[in-house]
Amino acid sequence: MIVYDLACPDGHRFEGWFGNSAEFEAQRARGLLSCPTCGHAEISKAPMAPAVPAKGNARQEVLAPESHRAMASAPLPPQLREALAALARAQAEALKHSTWVGERFAEESRAMYYGEREQAPIHGQASLDEARALVEEGVPIAPLPFPVAPPEKLN
Ligand SMILES: [Zn+2]
Repeated sequence: MIVYDLACPDGHRFEGWFGNSAEFEAQRARGLLSCPTCGHAEISKAPMAPAVPAKGNARQEVLAPESHRAMASAPLPPQLREALAALARAQAEALKHSTWVGERFAEESRAMYYGEREQAPIHGQASLDEARALVEEGVPIAPLPFPVAPPEKLN
């Protein structure tokens, strides 16, 4: 499992979780990645902030200029919008059989993994640190492709 800092052409940054780098490339190539803020599907890895060289360090790192990005004129083609909408519906459908546990996600996932509670599909929120810790422990978790509003905020 790897975590990438991703960015859309409008500069929104977010994190994407992938099994490996090939999976990231495959999902990107198929247009399955989209910006959670604006829905833009042209996603690239965010450039890492260059390290500030220590004083007196004469060696200068020169960062290669970013290659040109593929762009699409807005709005997105209907097939792409439909595919994204279908994916969002599929997530909503899958979550109907899953219980929202909110901020207890890390605790509940861990309890299931260690057999302290019955296995059941759950979804909720975890901080990046919590998620990383779970992954390191081997607890099977996956990021959801689309944001989920906590049920208490839905009317
Ligand atoms: Zn965006």
